[in-house]
Amino acid sequence: MTRVVVATSNPGKVSEFQEALSGLGWQLEPLGGYPLPEETGTTYEENAVIKAAAAAMMTGLPALADDSGLEVAALNGEPGVYSARFGDRRDDNERNLYLLELTRHATDRRAKFVSVLVLAYPDGHIEEYRGEVEGKLLEGPRGVGGFGYDPLFELPDGRTLGELSVPEKRAVSHRGRAFAKLTEAHKDGPPPRPTGSRI
Ligand code: IMP
Repeated sequence: MTRVVVATSNPGKVSEFQEALSGLGWQLEPLGGYPLPEETGTTYEENAVIKAAAAAMMTGLPALADDSGLEVAALNGEPGVYSARFGDRRDDNERNLYLLELTRHATDRRAKFVSVLVLAYPDGHIEEYRGEVEGKLLEGPRGVGGFGYDPLFELPDGRTLGELSVPEKRAVSHRGRAFAKLTEAHKDGPPPRPTGSRI
């Protein structure tokens, strides 16, 4: 069975990855005590590569990492890679209020979630899988599911991500789409070795 390390310090993410990639039959393992470098990149790809490549080198195993964010048209794509620390607000609720405040007068309500998954190998090869979902930023929350900006993000079918069950969200979300691309690329056995490399 292919062993792959999940480059995160969040234990919940390992089970999320395991479930999302169950079709591959990989054995996903936590990073354990290894320290992850700071996410100093300015793109999702850079941040995911920083984490995955460090984990692959430290453990000697292929490693998976993700990075994601919300891009709001009226804010020129912000908060983007800074979504988790937007406005230095301390929790999801505060960040949602801050986002609503900043966009109170915006007539262009388009927004997009982006997720990038990186699979890094100990020899420096990397694979990148990007998923996106487009929608609309509401003027107030709807739905109590999901996390982060989910209740403010309306899909083209009129439901917010906060109104979806976990499987429903996975079927349409940026992260679900990135996982689906990775699964598709690896479904026939040995991992592909595309061209990307950090060395
Ligand atoms: P990271 O990918 O763990 O660095 O965090 C990305 C941040 O983007 C999260 O803390 C949320 O604020 C936001 N975000 C990313 N994906 C989602 C999502 O599916 N729903 C709501 N917020 C999200």
